Amino acid sequence: MIKRLWSVLIALALLLSIPALGEDAAPKEGRWYEIFVYSFSDSDGDGIGDLNGVRNKLDYLEYLGVDGIWLMPINPSPSYHKYDVTDYKDIDPLYGTLDDMRALVSECHERGIRVITDLVLNHTSTKHRWFTMACGALRMSNPGNKYVSYYNFYEAAGPNRVNLFGTNWYYEEQFAGGSMPDLNLLNPQVRQEIRSIMEFWLSDIGTDGFRLDAVTSYGKDIIENVEILGWVNATAKEIKPSCYIVGEAWTSLDQIAKYYDSGIDSFFLFPASQAEGYIASSLSAMKPARSYMKYLLMTESKIDGIIAPFLGNHDTARILGILNASSNPALLKFAHGIINMYPGSVFTYYGDEIGMSGSGNDPNKRIAMNWSEEERTSDPPGVTRAKYSYPGVYAQMEDEASPLNYYRQINALKAEYTVIMTGRSSEVFLADKCCVIERADGADKVYIAINFDSAKPAQIQLDGAFKLAGTLLADSGEVTLEGGVITLPPYGIALLTQE
Ligand code: CA
Repeated sequence: MIKRLWSVLIALALLLSIPALGEDAAPKEGRWYEIFVYSFSDSDGDGIGDLNGVRNKLDYLEYLGVDGIWLMPINPSPSYHKYDVTDYKDIDPLYGTLDDMRALVSECHERGIRVITDLVLNHTSTKHRWFTMACGALRMSNPGNKYVSYYNFYEAAGPNRVNLFGTNWYYEEQFAGGSMPDLNLLNPQVRQEIRSIMEFWLSDIGTDGFRLDAVTSYGKDIIENVEILGWVNATAKEIKPSCYIVGEAWTSLDQIAKYYDSGIDSFFLFPASQAEGYIASSLSAMKPARSYMKYLLMTESKIDGIIAPFLGNHDTARILGILNASSNPALLKFAHGIINMYPGSVFTYYGDEIGMSGSGNDPNKRIAMNWSEEERTSDPPGVTRAKYSYPGVYAQMEDEASPLNYYRQINALKAEYTVIMTGRSSEVFLADKCCVIERADGADKVYIAINFDSAKPAQIQLDGAFKLAGTLLADSGEVTLEGGVITLPPYGIALLTQE
């Protein structure tokens, strides 16, 4: 009871001394963590992860040092992945209830953790009431019904068009061979529905923003997509000015840069992820530092907004397999280190911090979070391979040299030097295998020194007086700074400030 009273008093004191979340105080850049609820943690023994399971792991999220979580879709849906929604204002019963969600959001906020949810606007489930009403109307030869105009129906066959059984009508569908009909996002009535959905989550439930699915499929071309996104952004910010929105535009850097014209805060930096991406290709390059610097500066020069880099997500092969790092923890750690030295909002996919693996079909990329051999959810349906190369969370917590502890050190460093996230880069020193980057946000400046060599230390003569602010050591060795020369061990990263 006394402990409870103290925590209430401390919470009150915090409320009085710092602006509450959602009041434009914290920078929007942050350390984000993507959670597939199904596979994260089960609270009720049915083997399927749920919202109370996430709540039970808030100590872990706080221990990781993340600023926010992105929950993959939690709305009612006939599929395990839930990207085909049947009701945008409810929780899938497998995951819990709206009250569970309210409790999760409120407990996250008490810990300074923001919550964004997947908002799947491109399409609904065929089982959504809007679609069943539309189909019913067409079967009754009533194409003037308002729900018909919620979707894109045609009287002729064509690419990405699916015949509505028993009629001469076709509906637009891009992803699942028929089960995810595209919404008509140009329809003002659909936009009214979307406004109401966003109000529900941002105002009634109190979430802090959205991850927007499949934005490149919204309309007929990028111009239309950017217009729709501009409306989504303006509407969401009208409801909650501080909300953070990140969009999935799985395309090239130049295209992604254009999507920022919509005003949406961030778009995932897909070109940095995957086997051909900036991180993996730099790590396998003959001149890795030059490659890394080139991509970093190119990204920053093209994107006017908050960059959202990531190593992998629920649709990509996990970074462990891409780097072939299942018996090379130093390489795995270093990959986390260098993606996290990008500015902006770095997103970490659950399990990547402990080196989980997953490739091939989609369910394989979404296997149970490895707390321990005894503590895992069931795997989602369709998994053909669930192998764990590294120990689970609890074992890694006990091991100072684990990938998990390295990842925590990254987040701790970024919490102390937020300019890593909010600043912009310039090249201070560049050789084939090592570099120094200045990261500046106004007068706030740090210098990031990186040794990409897996075997040899790097020595760099610094121009000016610096002091060591922090280090990230993926392998053995230590960083020294003597007489203006910094020595970095293999895969060593050092943060410097000017004296
Ligand atoms: Ca459950």
